Amino acid sequence: MARYLVTGGAGYVGSHTVLALVQRGDEVVVIDDLRQGHRGAVAPGAELVVADVADRRQVAEVFAAWRFDAVFHFAALSLVAESMAQPLRYITENLSNTLTLAEAAVQAGCLRFVLSSTAALFGYPDSELMHEGSRLDPVSAYGESKLMAERGLDWADRVHGLRSASLRYFNAAGADPGGRLGEDHNPETHLIPLAIDAALGLGPALTVFGTDYDTPDGTCIRDYVHVTDLVDAHLRVLDVLGQGRSARYNVGNGNGYSVRQVIDEVSRVCGRPVPFRTGPRRPGDPPVLVASNALLREETGWRPRHSSLSEIVRTAWEWRVAHPRGYRGG
Ligand code: UDP
Repeated sequence: MARYLVTGGAGYVGSHTVLALVQRGDEVVVIDDLRQGHRGAVAPGAELVVADVADRRQVAEVFAAWRFDAVFHFAALSLVAESMAQPLRYITENLSNTLTLAEAAVQAGCLRFVLSSTAALFGYPDSELMHEGSRLDPVSAYGESKLMAERGLDWADRVHGLRSASLRYFNAAGADPGGRLGEDHNPETHLIPLAIDAALGLGPALTVFGTDYDTPDGTCIRDYVHVTDLVDAHLRVLDVLGQGRSARYNVGNGNGYSVRQVIDEVSRVCGRPVPFRTGPRRPGDPPVLVASNALLREETGWRPRHSSLSEIVRTAWEWRVAHPRGYRGG
């Protein structure tokens, strides 16, 4: 049995990871300030410490109270559009929280660290698929903040031997196929939950951000990866860290879907039209972001098993129908 520290373990991807760890018999301590996360999303059996990861004293207390085999760092500001309004806040918070946590881990002798990174650090694509070696040139402050965090971790590796895996998420989506967890952001800004809410009449009509991109139907193309597959990547990279090396992996299913295709799929799966109107482009959005996941496959045996668009939308839809008020509704 191993013990893990999970920051942001009450959030969307974090809570799904905590559930998977607890289910396989690992011990989990969650740090989450519950500003974005939900108490009800933390799997029974995990220890929840309500604290801000920026609080060095509380983080040090957690490291003093438990010995961890690895840290999973999910807690972060993560909205592209918000980062374009508050770039300095995004860069300061995401970078300093990652480095504070890495420092505390090093001091405690915990030398394995998994970072939630992002496809947003690539910026405008220089090839059809983004490879780990593709040009890093973020077009959003969010992407920049994660690029800086990755670089900070490189130094922690070189100097302190902190092995890290940076997982560059493409578009995390879907919900636990067992119906225990789902996606509940406040405010919600992500395409699939907003389209589902529009179809269900739980939210306003969707606005399509930009129809004049250089893509076949003029809307942005993204690579949607099921949260269960994303969690699987987190578990697999522990073996890479165990081999004593750091790595960076793209985590996407390798296929892109346009905003219009997503809207069509949500209508099909839900059996209801998605009311939408078209609007201007959203700052910070590159036209296309699709992953090459070859490296993750080769080095860890990972495969996207749940990432068809229909399964992503179906699981997200099922959770929302069962929890129209999200975690507030129990
Ligand atoms: N999008 C949209 N309307 C919305 C929310 C998102 O058209 O209300 C588009 C957005 O411009 C992007 C894609 O949907 O091209 C996915 O956006 P999301 O916010 O879900 O994830 P991101 O790509 O920002 O991580």
